[in-house]
Amino acid sequence: MAVFVGLDIGGTKIMVAAADREGNILRRARTATSTSLDEDLTNINTMIDKVVDGDRIVGMGAAIGGPLDWEKGIVSPLHQPAWRNIPLKTMMESKWDCPFQVDVDTNVAAVGEYRWSDLTAKRFLYLTLSTGMGGGFLVDGKLYRGQAGSHPEVGHQSIHFRCSNPPAVQCECGAPDCLEALISGNGIRRIYGKPAEALSPEEWEEIAYNLGQGLRNLATLYAPDLIRIGGGVAVGGGEMFIRKAQTVMEAHLKLVPPPQVALSGLGYDTALRGAIAMALPQL
Ligand SMILES: [Zn+2]
Repeated sequence: MAVFVGLDIGGTKIMVAAADREGNILRRARTATSTSLDEDLTNINTMIDKVVDGDRIVGMGAAIGGPLDWEKGIVSPLHQPAWRNIPLKTMMESKWDCPFQVDVDTNVAAVGEYRWSDLTAKRFLYLTLSTGMGGGFLVDGKLYRGQAGSHPEVGHQSIHFRCSNPPAVQCECGAPDCLEALISGNGIRRIYGKPAEALSPEEWEEIAYNLGQGLRNLATLYAPDLIRIGGGVAVGGGEMFIRKAQTVMEAHLKLVPPPQVALSGLGYDTALRGAIAMALPQL
């Protein structure tokens, strides 16, 4: 039978799945990301072979960290230093003889959340809050792209923040005061000296306040109908965390109607499911 393959190539793990024409996952595999490009590529191809299980691949989609050239499929994920200027599209199309599409993981996650949660919001903003922070914005179900194909970086905005350890606020992009540096997994480790799952209720309160201020800016600038938030930190903080952030957003949002705000419905599979959506024939 014909199958569609989705890849989620992350900084800590790589997930691969084969799906049928309706997007139902038939088989899946995962492994830890290594520090070697060759090893990662070998693992990816071995996992594809395994999940395809002799079926015929009709299309492939992939999610990976930026920056990248989505049209040429050349990738240089920031958190995977061994991957620099890798012509992934050309490599995969010649190896597997099928169309291959790759995009920034947060764009792919936005597509996954939209398609597989049957959303209809005209202006939909998806945020990923995990090791880093990013987002994807869909207008009428289509990705919004910046000039020259650039990807809007919603995590790298400055906000009015609360922090019990301000000297530890330092963003990996080089700026000292980004939202990502305050509320992402890496930022949380720098500020609080522990992972998100070990935070106290008071520390969660601070992070929810900061997320709320970021949501306020995003809601003011994009005026979206719906914001959904996924990724490990968001899932770990849960419903209470999102509600607190939403309350802060609403208290500070004056000129545009408040968007609906909710946790992702797809948990840790959002980017993988989005990659499958990209592999399928476009609706
Ligand atoms: Zn930054």
